[in-house]
Amino acid sequence: MTRNVVPYRIKVVEPIELLSREEREERIRDAGLNVFRLKSKHVYIDLLTDSGTGALSQEQLSQMMLGDESYAGSESFFRLEEAIHDIMCLPHVIPVHQGRAAEQVLDHILIKDGMVVPGNTHFDTTKAHIEFRGGRAIDCTIEEGRDATIEHPFKGNIDLNLLEKSYDKYGKDKIAYVLITVTCNSGGGQPVSMENIKEVSDFCRDKHLRLLFDAARFAENAFFIQQREKGYKNKSIRSIVREMFSYVQGCTMSAKKDGLVPIGGFLALRDEELYEDLKPTDILFEGFYTYGGMSGMNMDAMAQGLYEVVEQGYLAHRIGQTAYLGNELLKREVPIVTPVGGHAVFIDGRRFYKNIPEDQFPAQLLVVELYREGGIRAVEIGSCLAGRDPDTGKNVRPALDLCRLTIPRRVYTLEHFDYVADVVHSVYSGQKDRSTGLTFEIETKGIRHFTSTFKEI
Ligand SMILES: *Cc1c(COP(=O)(O)O)cnc(C)c1O
Repeated sequence: MTRNVVPYRIKVVEPIELLSREEREERIRDAGLNVFRLKSKHVYIDLLTDSGTGALSQEQLSQMMLGDESYAGSESFFRLEEAIHDIMCLPHVIPVHQGRAAEQVLDHILIKDGMVVPGNTHFDTTKAHIEFRGGRAIDCTIEEGRDATIEHPFKGNIDLNLLEKSYDKYGKDKIAYVLITVTCNSGGGQPVSMENIKEVSDFCRDKHLRLLFDAARFAENAFFIQQREKGYKNKSIRSIVREMFSYVQGCTMSAKKDGLVPIGGFLALRDEELYEDLKPTDILFEGFYTYGGMSGMNMDAMAQGLYEVVEQGYLAHRIGQTAYLGNELLKREVPIVTPVGGHAVFIDGRRFYKNIPEDQFPAQLLVVELYREGGIRAVEIGSCLAGRDPDTGKNVRPALDLCRLTIPRRVYTLEHFDYVADVVHSVYSGQKDRSTGLTFEIETKGIRHFTSTFKEI
């Protein structure tokens, strides 16, 4: 194995503080056992999300000084557009302030009541936007992607049979578009193979369906293709990314992930007609189509970030950090989803707390206990997040009930991850036989995991 070389050193530091056990108990109680309701200053190690939490580089900061804040025709926009042309080879760019805004702008035009979007385990905001427009997200992830223990190099892949079934059931006119999420966030940060992308693309071309990427972690996906897929070992990330995008008509992008910026996003498209249709919607929801809710500084930081995120050294280190934490947990026999994905390590709530019934939110309980034990903020990606079926009102039972430890980009060191592994292990050895979990105190409507409160049973 090649050594995992750290491709940066630290120039600016941000202090963090570990509160006492008593204080942590009080803070999480006041937050209604929901870590979204904690103040960040009360968190020691924040693994809530990798979204917008990365460190900027000195090059990004210096590019920001060039930010052109003109309302229309900003130079910053053209630099961003050029970066997207260079890296993704997609000609038309609609800037938006973050990924879900891209979804809103797109779905406003493409989704009508009763339409569907087949794909691999849609991200929560993606699914919510589709449903908000009266559509439905259809999960066509391969069987292996639903099992936390099966080893498979590309657990984000789409099952062509399921895709074909959707097509047979709904037909061309009811399928708004097909969406491949790279990497598959809700499925555990698992990658999609080039072969699968190509097969789905062939299918869609054959059936005249529009195929798009949810490209939030496109570079991480490219790295996995390089490492795991036959024929890609000696290809550069840039060329792999280019090939990936050659199979789709466009993408939505949350640049808070692989754009390496605190805020930003875009839609990029091949189809000029759709681009023209989306412009007025962008102006309505986001802002003029050369800024879309971003500042010029934002756009310049993102343009630079897109170049940095496809660097080999950056990706090897980034994915290496995630793998490191995964390995440390495996050494301590903590049940995690394997293989470890790109941006996070997922602990399997149902195997962690074997005796806690599924409807008592084992993964959410683990999130609470990690804060109590070590001031760590993780996040539940499971039964609580899955919400209720919009048709039946019943709790959806997702394939996996997970506690996600999400790794911010260029932020923490291996010392932090050793600490995290020790805290998780300490909760595991002390509590794994626990038999009661959580119930809602107040269940809020809509995207309930952000705002609901819980109590212990
Ligand atoms: C984060 C994310 C989104 C939504 O993006 P925001 O920038 O948070 O609005 C959409 N899809 C995936 C896969 C994501 O990870």
